[in-house]
Amino acid sequence: MTFSVHGLAVARGIAIGRAVLVASSRVDVAHYFIEPAQVSSELRRLAQAREAVLAELNHLHDNLPKDSPPELSAILEVHLMLLQDSMLEEGVTGWIRERLYNAEWALTSQLDVVARQFDEMDDPYLRERKGDLEQVVERMLRHMKGVTHVMPHASVKRGSPSRQQDLQLDDDMDVPLVLVAHDLSPADMLQFKQSVFTGFVTDVGGKTSHTAIVARSLDIPAVVGARTASQLVRQDDWIIIDGDAGVVIVNPSPIILAEYGFKQRQADLERERLLRLRHTPAVTLDGQRVDLLANIEMPEDSPAALDVGAVGVGLFRSEFLFMGRAGALPDEEEQYLAYKRAVDGMKGLPVTIRTVDIGADKPLDRTVKDETHLNPALGLRAIRWSLADPAMFLTQLRAILRAAAHGQVHLLIPMLAHAREIKQTLALLDKARSQLDARGAVFGPVKVGAMIEVPAAALSVKMFLRHFDFLSVGTNDLIQYTLAIDRADELVAHLYDPLHPAVLRLLADTIAESRAQGKSVSVCGEMAGDPAMTRLLLGLGLRSFSMHPTQILAVKQEVIRADASRLEAWAQDVLASDEPAELMGLKN
Ligand code: PEP
Ligand code: MG
Repeated sequence: MTFSVHGLAVARGIAIGRAVLVASSRVDVAHYFIEPAQVSSELRRLAQAREAVLAELNHLHDNLPKDSPPELSAILEVHLMLLQDSMLEEGVTGWIRERLYNAEWALTSQLDVVARQFDEMDDPYLRERKGDLEQVVERMLRHMKGVTHVMPHASVKRGSPSRQQDLQLDDDMDVPLVLVAHDLSPADMLQFKQSVFTGFVTDVGGKTSHTAIVARSLDIPAVVGARTASQLVRQDDWIIIDGDAGVVIVNPSPIILAEYGFKQRQADLERERLLRLRHTPAVTLDGQRVDLLANIEMPEDSPAALDVGAVGVGLFRSEFLFMGRAGALPDEEEQYLAYKRAVDGMKGLPVTIRTVDIGADKPLDRTVKDETHLNPALGLRAIRWSLADPAMFLTQLRAILRAAAHGQVHLLIPMLAHAREIKQTLALLDKARSQLDARGAVFGPVKVGAMIEVPAAALSVKMFLRHFDFLSVGTNDLIQYTLAIDRADELVAHLYDPLHPAVLRLLADTIAESRAQGKSVSVCGEMAGDPAMTRLLLGLGLRSFSMHPTQILAVKQEVIRADASRLEAWAQDVLASDEPAELMGLKN
């Protein structure tokens, strides 16, 4: 039966493929692809866990106290039976061999398949056995947690060493796969970066949640905030993701499939057309040069930035080097080498490295949700986190200064608000330089900039301009904090509005004041990469935009069609309006 699920459109385009469900279990489960050569060791881990649970259940069964209720013994027998049932084992083996899932992912995927079969049973007794199966699987997962396993490998190509009869997998291993999950952390998303998925759907998340941002950087269609998608979609269902409309269509009819296939081809053609702008300078009709810079998450992203003609990196989100490492932070050498790779990769163009912005929806460890703080978005994140751990911060500053010996590096500090935070940051930067001097280490000069992300910072922009060489407006956070809505919460996503008059006022004043003082200012939030916003930002005087490489050409097209001086008066009208979206023709 065809049905559709609605969510938030976060990354454009159409994806059509088979659903791969990342099932959420009560036990934290890692999801990653293995190399074909690792299939047998993964199967061994599975067999070991099965043997261990078998021994555990047998032991429990044989040592039940004499007076225990007879049901207990019966339950354990059911668990033993389920554990040894071929339905589970053969299916799991199939996911490992055919799809190259790690053992835990294979186990939860098969649990999902079998649980659905239980759900469809008429006999209420049998239906309830689903809970028993879940318990058996969780026992196995717990055992696997203790067993060492291969490291995640993100860039595996799918192979098909053999086939399993029971699993409804495709003969054609080139069938596109789309990922459906309740939630994915930004680190999970990053791990899938070079993987085989052609689209993503998650139940939770807002338009500018970091998961959505990474999805956008992958340049594949994505829908977040689709509420119940992961419960409604089944493993291997055919689905269409319409990343423009924020719609997911499950089990489409042939007519719908044909229609979306057509749309997909149109989008591909448009993309090819845009590629022709790669070497066209970003200059407006009235001759104003506009810098289009790239936002990157990893040094390996720099070729993609160069490919689309970015004139530098305007935001390197360095926290991605820190995430998903179970708290073992990268040392100075590791960081230095990563920053140097980004600098070398940009071949002489400037690279703006933002110091670590951990916290809120970017936890250090993806398996640890921040439930210890009442409101993480307002808590110890970004520069607050860095200043709370000066040794860690100094390590990062030294690594960045050393990388600056290899090219143009700009240092960017996130989420500052207070004068004392500015002073502490700059004092630590001086200290990092002295430490390197004392060691005789080579390091280079850096321009130092601040992100304007908190309304308090925008309102005291003059103070920031006194201390910093440049400013970069983080509109994702500026909007979140101005409008008091959590950017990662799909329940308030409808209130997330880049065109709210208060947001525009803070943005316009920051740009105007920086320009008046002859200092460079850019926008590096998602707003900068939205072609619908380009004319307004140009009209407000912005000449430096930083965005995902995938968005640069569409924004460039807007820039070269715009007459910046004629947009100024119109932008002031938009700024003065109660309903800016209406004036911009964006109201529906
Ligand atoms: C922003 O807040 O706009 C920004 C660019 O930083 P991040 O999205 O990483 O919080
Ligand atoms: Mg931010």
